[in-house]
Amino acid sequence: MGSADSSKIVPYRGRIAPSPTGYLHVGHARTFFTAWQRAHDAGGALVLRMEDLDRERSRSVYTEAAIEDLRWLGMDWQEGPDVGGPYAPYMQSERGALYRAAWRALVERGFLFPCRCSRKDLAAAVSAPHEADAVDDESLYPGTCRAALPLRGAGLWTGDEAGGVSWRFRVPDGEAIEFVDANLGPQRFVAGADFGDFLVWRKDDVASYQLACVVDDAAMHITEVVRGADLLKSTARQILLNRALGYENPAWFHCALVVDAGGRRLAKRHDALSVRTLRERGARAEEILEEA
Ligand code: GLU
Repeated sequence: MGSADSSKIVPYRGRIAPSPTGYLHVGHARTFFTAWQRAHDAGGALVLRMEDLDRERSRSVYTEAAIEDLRWLGMDWQEGPDVGGPYAPYMQSERGALYRAAWRALVERGFLFPCRCSRKDLAAAVSAPHEADAVDDESLYPGTCRAALPLRGAGLWTGDEAGGVSWRFRVPDGEAIEFVDANLGPQRFVAGADFGDFLVWRKDDVASYQLACVVDDAAMHITEVVRGADLLKSTARQILLNRALGYENPAWFHCALVVDAGGRRLAKRHDALSVRTLRERGARAEEILEEA
């Protein structure tokens, strides 16, 4: 019963995916540590991937600092920008051709529509939504540019370049996206209500966080994604992208968020709570990981 042919057992592959837009924060550190632990306990591999698509905010000094802080906290990884590996490069800024191919496939299959809406907050779309300042999430798209277009598969576009407009995923309104989270249990988000037509490609010709993430998780054969609970709705969006691209879903494990004494979520910007600052003040790795 259930004794699958051992040749079919897929070895665990996890990943940690920091965005080098600031020093590593305690909240991230704890999520990454959980990812490390789960890969370690499963006897699997861990991939370090740098999510440095946000050209304005990403800095190589933060990439180096993240690698150093993660090692100082006691983590190691089998693949990454510093150690190489079979799915290199591990810097998203060097993986643009893969994202573009996926974008093209989505356009050809009629899942996307071009959007000319000017959005001041477009910059947020390239990062995981939890990194946006006050907003936790991409807001519901009002549907302006979607309404102007023909239906799926109707040949929306035939050119060769993505630039000049942004591109959104036309979500199946009313469909419930359900998954069982390995930590938080059953989850359910309704497309068009809990989240709307989300960005896949930015006007400045860069893949969005959502697209780059699914392309990389598939290409790197990630079997379980461990991330913060603030990204639950992103997971729902990514399930739609995986389906559209014909990728298998990994397992999902969302970590509860680290909150301060007042119950407020700790933001990356609170420099006082960067791993760096705490280290400089003499904190030990165990204290940072346990007490946060
Ligand atoms: N780059 C995101 C971060 O810094 C992680 C996104 C993810 O795990 O999918 O938290």
